[in-house]
Amino acid sequence: MTKYKIAVVPGDGIGPEVVASGVEVLKAVAGICDFELEFTELLAGGCSIDKNGVPLTDETLEACKNSDAVLLGAVGGPKWDNIPNNLRPEKALLNLRKGLNLYSNLRPALLYEPLADACPVKNVKSMDILIVRELTGGMYFGDRGRFQSEDKLVEGTVKGLSAYDTECYSTAEIRRIVKEGFRYAMGRNKKLTVVDKANVLESSRLWREVVNEEASNYPEVAVDFLYIDNATMQLISRPQSFDVIVTSNMFGDILSDEAGEITGSIGMLPSASLGVPGTPGMYEPVHGSAPDIAGKGIANPLATILSCAMLLKWSLNEVHASDLIENAVLKVLELGYRSKDIAGKDDDKIVGTNEMTRLVLDELNKVGK
Ligand code: NAD
Repeated sequence: MTKYKIAVVPGDGIGPEVVASGVEVLKAVAGICDFELEFTELLAGGCSIDKNGVPLTDETLEACKNSDAVLLGAVGGPKWDNIPNNLRPEKALLNLRKGLNLYSNLRPALLYEPLADACPVKNVKSMDILIVRELTGGMYFGDRGRFQSEDKLVEGTVKGLSAYDTECYSTAEIRRIVKEGFRYAMGRNKKLTVVDKANVLESSRLWREVVNEEASNYPEVAVDFLYIDNATMQLISRPQSFDVIVTSNMFGDILSDEAGEITGSIGMLPSASLGVPGTPGMYEPVHGSAPDIAGKGIANPLATILSCAMLLKWSLNEVHASDLIENAVLKVLELGYRSKDIAGKDDDKIVGTNEMTRLVLDELNKVGK
């Protein structure tokens, strides 16, 4: 029987609650689909600061590197808000991404039909977009600094203290993420939208050149280019018309949050961060540690459960198991069950974290029988 090693990093706040749900669902689907999972639980974030004095130990990173995939909850919380920047819980995330070379961030934004009422945009009944965001380059990692400028503005004021950040992309960095975009488009509706600011930025013009070179390798994929300002509008006015979006680190950061909001709740959004094939990917809900609801048993576990479905598909190639989880989640929503964050209608059946998890397990077990 095939056996996979999963590094489990629950983190802080609601992280442990939703990760426990994800692990239960993974165990159930492994039983149904006949593969074995070995879980290793690890500390990262605030809980690691409390125990080890640092948000991420070398041992935790090493254990993640030696796994087939990493399942993460969320890190951070008010308890650790006033400690030095380099020791903050969020540093664990950045160091995991860097340490595992996770350059590709996949954020599916899917509006489930039963949740159409939760969509804040009028008349949008469906949406199924995959945003492919470059994760280790661009302005978030470029040269930055501050300096004193003696230059003057037109009205004569000295500019004074100034700051800069640099958007820099190499052809190789662009090509590897663009290829991912094409590959995912091939597996979906064969439509790739490249979001940039090529009317202003030289780095965007290089992105376009690389995309045009790569396009000849994927003749079946229809490619279009949108400026980021236009893309944010189009995402609201015609979200149904997008399939795969590929874009830079910063534009992807902004667009994926916008797309997520259209789907109704952050509690529904899974994500995957991937490196080169054969290295472990990291899977986590898009939401944070939600300290305001931690310990109350009301967190929506579906973003984490759907992240587990992504883990099975993208890191373990257990596509059937992944589909079973996604179908089970859809079925539970069709039956009218809602955690508080996605409830809206009078006849919604409101359930907590454990009950929602049990409902998903029940649907899985029906298939397993
Ligand atoms: P958050 O995502 O934790 O919460 C935002 C709002 O959404 C809150 O009202 C919360 O109750 C609600 N919410 C989030 N997830 C939910 C779920 N599964 N079910 C129901 N409701 C849910 O964002 P925040 O409040 O800005 O941040 C809280 C902490 O989380 C901070 O310390 C922040 O740094 C950290 N954070 C961590 C990550 C991560 O680990 N990837 C991401 C974002 C924020």
